[in-house]
Amino acid sequence: MDMLSTSPGWKAGGWTRWGLSDPVPRICPECGTEAVPLLTIATTEWDDSDSWEPEEDRANPVPLLPGIPPANFTRIDIARGYDLQLHICPVSPDHRHIELIQ
Ligand SMILES: [Zn+2]
Repeated sequence: MDMLSTSPGWKAGGWTRWGLSDPVPRICPECGTEAVPLLTIATTEWDDSDSWEPEEDRANPVPLLPGIPPANFTRIDIARGYDLQLHICPVSPDHRHIELIQ
C-alpha cells in the first residue's frame, strides 16, 4: 500500500484510505470514467502514536481534545469515527460526485 494513501485527516485530492472494504474503482455513473478523490472529510486527524503528526507539533505538541475519538479537532464525526470521501469525475464537474465512507 502506498504510504501517502494512509495519511489521516482532512485533505483535498490525494488518495483513498481503504480499510472498510477492498479497493474498488470509483466509476462515474454518467460516463464510466474512473472518478478521482476530491475531498476527504475525516473524523480524526493524527494522534500521538501516528507518524503523520505535523513536524512542528512534534516539538510543541498540541493537546488532543478530550472525547471519543481523540484528535477530533473539528468535532465532526463521520459514521462514528470514519472518513467521508467525495470523488469527482475528471471529464466534467457537471457529473454527479460519488461518496465513499472508509
Ligand atoms: Zn463522468
